[in-house]
Amino acid sequence: MTKYKLEYIWLDGYTPVPNLRGKTQIKEFSSFPTLAELPLWGFDGSSTMQAEGHSSDCVLKPVAVFPDGARKNGVLVMCEVMMPDGVTPHVSNKRATILDDPGAWFGFEQEYFFYKDGRPLGFPEHGYPAPQGPYYTGVGYSNVGSVARKIVEEHLELCLEAGINHEGINAEVAKGQWEFQIFGKGSKTAADQMWVARYLMMRLCESYGIDIEWHCKPLGDTDWNGSGMHANFSTEYMRTVGGKAYFEAMMKAFEKNWKEHIDVYGPDNDKRLTGKHETAPWNKFSYGVADRGASIRVPHSFVKGDLYRGYLEDRRPNSQGDPYQIASQILKTISEVPVSKSAAA
Ligand code: ADP
Ligand code: MN
Ligand code: MN
Ligand code: MN
Repeated sequence: MTKYKLEYIWLDGYTPVPNLRGKTQIKEFSSFPTLAELPLWGFDGSSTMQAEGHSSDCVLKPVAVFPDGARKNGVLVMCEVMMPDGVTPHVSNKRATILDDPGAWFGFEQEYFFYKDGRPLGFPEHGYPAPQGPYYTGVGYSNVGSVARKIVEEHLELCLEAGINHEGINAEVAKGQWEFQIFGKGSKTAADQMWVARYLMMRLCESYGIDIEWHCKPLGDTDWNGSGMHANFSTEYMRTVGGKAYFEAMMKAFEKNWKEHIDVYGPDNDKRLTGKHETAPWNKFSYGVADRGASIRVPHSFVKGDLYRGYLEDRRPNSQGDPYQIASQILKTISEVPVSKSAAA
């Protein structure tokens, strides 16, 4: 038997953005534990804005398991928060009720800022560094400093060791701003991986004395970019059938539901989706081929040969958005689009 260090991770009850929480228990298993082998556990909900009335116990229900490369015999256990009965989802538990479909694939591009001493990493104590321009995909100390790349590389390793589909990294437009991409099949699979990747990044940065600023517009109304979490998505129908008529019907549904999308695409998005800095105004839906100033960008690969097949990029979700709810809302809107049998024939 081996003693495993199980880090139970969950989302707390803070609004509008939940915080990641985690605590460790040690348990013996003959080999790396499967989801079915992991027991329910509990925590004090009165300390996480999750207490209901006089009973402060909440239940942690394991829903996804990942190896923890930072610990010997470490296990990362993503959990849903349940009521004391262990079966009723807590009101803060959004994952329990989202739409899911293993044929729906999601690629999230998570942007964020490294922060130190209350400002983006690399910003001088007073004023600003040289304006945006050289930082995006930049190289060299004056562009990316001496620490950020070390952190993003270590984060990549941790994600790969965890079995997370980390798909890439780039330095972003603002100084101190970076991006990583996570891909998954199904809303829950993709979003679980994103939340655990966020957790790994925050935990990793502790030892560097650096925080992650997830807010979508930390530098306010300035000439510095905000942070998004573009959601690339495709359903099986979009990938294998598609077609121009279906695409146009889909865009109509997205236009009709624009408010429902914005409602779950992260707080303060009106400060980021201004129409500047490669964004579309938050309250005006638009789409366009290769258009990075549109709400939804249609890749060239999608329209190729007039097939209108493949994936689309919703550029509106922001860096603090909940990937569970983002994926679910996308699936909800798509589910309203009639599938033409004649198109499939
Ligand atoms: P950008 O040019 O917008 O910066 P990125 O390369 O950062 O694009 O991200 C594009 C993401 O699209 C990839 O991370 C990938 O996960 C995702 N993606 C690619 N193909 C599909 C697909 N068929 N369905 C859903 N997502 C996809
Ligand atoms: Mn990207
Ligand atoms: Mn980006
Ligand atoms: Mn993008």
